[in-house]
Amino acid sequence: MNSSTSTSPPDSDQSTTRDWTVVYVVDLCCLLCGRAIGSFETRRWPWFGPVVLTPPRGQPAVPIANWSQLRCPTCSGNVYADEVRPTKLYPSVALDDLDVPRRGRPPKWLVAQRQTTRSTVDD
Ligand SMILES: [Zn+2]
Repeated sequence: MNSSTSTSPPDSDQSTTRDWTVVYVVDLCCLLCGRAIGSFETRRWPWFGPVVLTPPRGQPAVPIANWSQLRCPTCSGNVYADEVRPTKLYPSVALDDLDVPRRGRPPKWLVAQRQTTRSTVDD
């Protein structure tokens, strides 16, 4: 008899060592007429705090205090989250990674970090 069915997978998503974070892309629609209101990204879901809403059809993005209080601009219907897509967000490339010349001498910890990084990348 093997009792290995109760073991949990080792790669749970509680790890903080990864270099990416999960961002939820939320599409908002009108409950009454079904029109797309826009979409926003949030790092937590459910989330009712401030977001930057990107309307459909290329309109400029607008900051929203609480998306659940939005109303459909056409029929004033309630807005709901039609689709929530978790996506991985990787950190933007830092200037240190681009080898941009910087003024002055880099700190020692940065030199050591670059050497370890290059030795693993170049191999
Ligand atoms: Zn509507």
